[in-house]
Parts: sequence; C-alpha cells; structure tokens
Amino acid sequence: MIRTQDVNKHFGELHVLKDITIDVPRGQVVVVAGPSGSGKSTLCRTINRLEPIDSGTIEVDGEPLPMEGKALAKLRADVGMVFQQFNLFAHKSIVDNVTLGPIKVRKKSKSAARDEAMELLTRVGIADQAEKFPAQLSGGQQQRAAIARALAMNPKVMMFDEPTSALDPEMVQEVLDVMASLANEGMTMFVITHEMGFARRAAHRVIFMDYGAVIEDTSPEEFFTNPRTERAQDFLSKIL
Ligand code: ATP
Ligand code: MG
Repeated sequence: MIRTQDVNKHFGELHVLKDITIDVPRGQVVVVAGPSGSGKSTLCRTINRLEPIDSGTIEVDGEPLPMEGKALAKLRADVGMVFQQFNLFAHKSIVDNVTLGPIKVRKKSKSAARDEAMELLTRVGIADQAEKFPAQLSGGQQQRAAIARALAMNPKVMMFDEPTSALDPEMVQEVLDVMASLANEGMTMFVITHEMGFARRAAHRVIFMDYGAVIEDTSPEEFFTNPRTERAQDFLSKIL
C-alpha cells in the first residue's frame, strides 16, 4: 500500500531522511517510534506529498509520487491523516466537520454524507456530540471526531502522527481503543506513537528511526524483547 525506496530529504544542511526504504502492505499496522527529531513526522508528511523529497521513490497503492492536480487530490483523499492537534474546523459542528470532505471531494449528497457521518460518530462513541462545536468537546472526543472525519473519506490507509500526545492521560486510552478497533477491522495504518502498549496490542511491525534513518524494522515481540541496536535499547529503557 505504501512503498518507499531510498528516500532522502534535506532541510538545508540537515539530512532529515536517509535512504528510507519501507514497505507497508495492505492491512498492516506499522508503529513508527524514535527520539524527537529523528524524522518521523517528516516521513509521514512525504507520503501524501505535504513534503517533497530530494531523491528516491514513493508509491501509494501502486501509484508513484509525485503527482499533481487531480491525481494529487485523489491521493490526499485516499490517505487519511490524524495529527497531534486535532485540526477540526472550530466554526463547524462535529457532524459538519465529518461531512465536509465527503460532500466537497467525494461528491456525496448531504443526506447520505450525514447518515454515514452519524454511523462513524457512533463507531467512535460520540454520536451524542454530533451537534456540538469542537471547543465543547474534551480532547479525547475531539481526536475521535478527527478520526471519524478522516474515515469519512473512505481512505485506503490511515496515517497517525502522535495522535494521543496532546491528550490528558485519562483520555489516551479511549483514542487508542478506537485505533485498535480500526486495526482489528483490517485498516492499513501507519502510526507514529510512543504508546508502546498500543504497539504490543495492535501493531504487526515496529519501525524505529534515529537521526533520519530506519535502524530497526521488526515485529513488536522482537523489538520489545530483543532490540538489536543500542539506540533502540536506550529508547525503550527511557519510555517503558
Ligand atoms: P518529534 O518526536 O519531536 O515529533 P520527529 O521525529 O517527528 O520528532 P521531525 O519533525 O520529522 O522529527 O523533524 C526532523 C528534523 O527536521 C528535526 O531536526 C527538525 O527540527 C527538522 N525539521 C522539521 N521540519 C522542518 C522544516 N520545515 N524546516 C527545517 N527543519 C525542519
Ligand atoms: Mg513528529
């Protein structure tokens, strides 16, 4: 579903992605971990072309990037993104946040989009919040709304960039539960997170990045019980 080959990127002098080669098959859940500044968010952003790359290739669902115009718009619609900051539209109700993309981009009718939005809000457990505005919801509820909004586009893959790191601790689990149930349903997921409980429970693979390079790409069991590199051992000793 996502395939990168020898991807390199610089920000000025800084070599932020170094020969990144990864392959995320359909239905796989990949957790990406690594120290701050290791390039995780940048990698995530290159995949739907929010960041251009200097060299290498990226394919999403068999289609090579870069793309422009309609192909790029389709790519962005097919790749759902959930960020640390929920990025909901403050002046729209929760249900309107969810229906906007399907109406504008997928050309759904208002009533069909609304029915589907209500189903999704039920699935993430906040149907009762549908008519409220984002500021009236807790952080965990807002993040679940952001997940519903991304799912409403019927994406082929969901990318998460530290979706729980801005949340109060008591709200982390409700968001991870929604993500774990998506994983169970077979969604292809690329998840940057330091929630190693989620990695153990839901990931098929863990990628560990350091200084712009992938230095481990292995199963969660292997990563937790037998990290090969000192850097991964050091990282795990700090966060577990
Ligand atoms: P964190 O865990 O803190 O989110 P990260 O692994 O996601 O870190 P990135 O945000 O990808 O790291 O950043 C990688 C490096 O690139 C950092 O040194 C960062 O300062 C730098 N960087 C990121 N975006 C830009 C930019 N737009 N311009 C210049 N440098 C940038
Ligand atoms: Mg980041």
